[in-house]
Amino acid sequence: MLPLNPKPVKLTNAPVVAPADLLAGLTPDVAAALGRATAIAARRRLGLWLIGGAVRDLLRGAALDRDIDLAVEGDAVDLAAALAEALGGRVLASHRAFGTATLGIPRAAAGSGELTLDLAGTRAEEYPQPAALPVVRPSDIADDLRRRDFSVNAIAVELLADAGTLRAGILRDPFGGRADLAAGRLRLLHPYSFRDDPTRLLRGLRLASRLDLRPDEATAAQIADALTRGYLRMLSPERALGEICLALDEPRPDAVLALADAWGVTPQVVPGLAWSAALAERFTRRRATEAWSAGGAIRGEPETTGGDRLAASGWRLATIDAGLLCYDLGADQLAEIAARYPLPTPFARLLQEIPAARAVARRLNADLRPSQIDLLLRPLSAAGIRVLHCAEIGSAGQIAARYLGEIRPARAPLDGRDIQRLGIAPGPNIGRLLDGLRAAHLDGEVTTRAQAEVWVQAQICS
Ligand code: ATP
Repeated sequence: MLPLNPKPVKLTNAPVVAPADLLAGLTPDVAAALGRATAIAARRRLGLWLIGGAVRDLLRGAALDRDIDLAVEGDAVDLAAALAEALGGRVLASHRAFGTATLGIPRAAAGSGELTLDLAGTRAEEYPQPAALPVVRPSDIADDLRRRDFSVNAIAVELLADAGTLRAGILRDPFGGRADLAAGRLRLLHPYSFRDDPTRLLRGLRLASRLDLRPDEATAAQIADALTRGYLRMLSPERALGEICLALDEPRPDAVLALADAWGVTPQVVPGLAWSAALAERFTRRRATEAWSAGGAIRGEPETTGGDRLAASGWRLATIDAGLLCYDLGADQLAEIAARYPLPTPFARLLQEIPAARAVARRLNADLRPSQIDLLLRPLSAAGIRVLHCAEIGSAGQIAARYLGEIRPARAPLDGRDIQRLGIAPGPNIGRLLDGLRAAHLDGEVTTRAQAEVWVQAQICS
């Protein structure tokens, strides 16, 4: 029997928006763009449906401003090109073989960036082998809903445009997704769903954690069966990592981990990892300091250029979260993660640094001078220190915060060129003098430029 969701689940009716009011949740930008897109699709006699998570979220009363998935009854690639031309946008990606295209169109308000629409031709899918990519053929909206993962994601609303004004047509909900949403139920559509595509297990985890859903009996049995049969291990490391990164992108990655433990998923994805109260506390501290890292900026940390998911989705905060989750893991377990998954460089570097960060944390105490703190923490990256700050309660955590805020950015009154001007020949001596001067400056022994020059002269003479 599958362990239940550790949080109490609301099984009483949650509010679900009436179909007629559904599109009221679109922001004006999105409503305007969809109105024009729908009118153009209609002129081409193509049915257009808002589908999947977008409809699910509108039904929950959330405003829809992004992640807009459209199903096109017809050629989605051609329609995307026509929409780009008519709406002054651009096709960001298109795959004729898959019948999918991503369209970027300018938002109505000037300077507010681009709105992204994902278009896909309605299709049926078959999975020739477990965890393999499906064989796809064009089909109708009914088949397109049938190929989806969970009932709450298998809902579509027809888009109609009357004289350019967008309105909702038929709502298709063949698997009872609205009722499941209201009842807080996670329900798979097919008995072999996880065998076909094991990422659905990880998708379900995220969805259940975010929306407080609980698997119904059949889905719970399928989760248990998928774990027994080891379907998750059939996933390529890239696909599994993609899902892990999406979990890190959730508002509460720690809650996803708690649920992953309850479902028994964690050991098959990241052996050794487990939710704990201490870990939840770390995330509380991380959220409390979020303003500090607003925009994800960590001073002194280089940008990554990788095209991976983390890079695309605020990798810095996701990397910090990954570091917090893994903070208690041993060096062997960390090495196992690095060997199993194709980690983006900043992520891999941070995991490698964790044992050193823990060792440094043990040596941090309130009696240390700033220069001693500098010596201990300087070898760590800003991300590593940030993790240490959120992971450690007490003085070590506080010292790490002070280091990032005050000590690390501090600059001595003289730099290397200034020291050369004082008559020191280029070479290792300059480095030694700079280190010493930095320490004296941090400890308040040298504050002005004149004092720094005297300090340097004294070192030369001694
Ligand atoms: P989120 O809010 O996390 O973005 P979403 O449901 O919008 O959730 P997407 O990954 O954008 O997630 O997928 C859009 C829709 O495509 C889903 O709602 C679901 O209907 C369908 N879908 C996505 N991945 C799968 C999958 N692996 N198997 C079946 N259907 C899927």
